[in-house]
Amino acid sequence: MRYIEPHAHMVSRTTDDYKHMALAGCAAVCEPAFWAGFDRRSPAGFYDYFCQLTEHEPRRAAKFGVKHFCWLCINSKEAEDVKLAEEVIDLIPAFLERENVLGIGEIGLNKNSRNELKVFERQVELAAKHRQLILVHTPHLEDKLKGTRLILDVLKNDPRITPERVIIDHVEEHTVEMVLDCGMWAGMTLYPETKCTPARAIDILELYGRERLWLNSACDWGVSDPLAVPKTALEMKKRGHGAKAIEQAIFTNPKTFLRQSPHFKLE
Ligand SMILES: [Zn+2]
Repeated sequence: MRYIEPHAHMVSRTTDDYKHMALAGCAAVCEPAFWAGFDRRSPAGFYDYFCQLTEHEPRRAAKFGVKHFCWLCINSKEAEDVKLAEEVIDLIPAFLERENVLGIGEIGLNKNSRNELKVFERQVELAAKHRQLILVHTPHLEDKLKGTRLILDVLKNDPRITPERVIIDHVEEHTVEMVLDCGMWAGMTLYPETKCTPARAIDILELYGRERLWLNSACDWGVSDPLAVPKTALEMKKRGHGAKAIEQAIFTNPKTFLRQSPHFKLE
């Protein structure tokens, strides 16, 4: 089995996790910039984080033969302080040419607040200006449907945004269709407790076809499983999906989307 982990927060994982992922067939891991489990108080904290994502983590992954890529942004959980967010956004262009940077993400909404929306729009602007791919985080639980609608409205109303260059992550049964209908990609996050279980994710694949969908573990500092993608592949096999369908879900699809960035090279 070979697979791509398109969404994992490796800065909060151990080196053993890299080893286990490599043993399970992980060819590449992609790490969106996100909350670090605590609020950072200064742009300098984010500058160091961007250096960690573009310098340190690729070296840590390379020890196990895994390619490491990343996305840069200020996340929605830290977007309430608009002045801080603006200062962080101003740091990003200088990092975009670093060789493992795929685009702007994971931007989006957390509580659907006015300030979060303002910072989201500012980062869509940044992506459009620099012709970057976009990876979007959608809110949890009761905020998801409304937040997904708000996000799609912003993206659809910007003529510079090409839908197939956007992935909306953490979709569930009630949001996947509206994302695919816009021509964008949809990511399903496999969490042991919340978001999608492997069984629900496979149901969604069976219902909505195999195009423009990917699976990720989004493993981070919380309760999550860095091997959720290969475990779901085994579950697909048990449910009678063929090798080609499984490879499409866990390898070919993420590769097709990510290859739109000139920085995504597997060899
Ligand atoms: Zn994430």
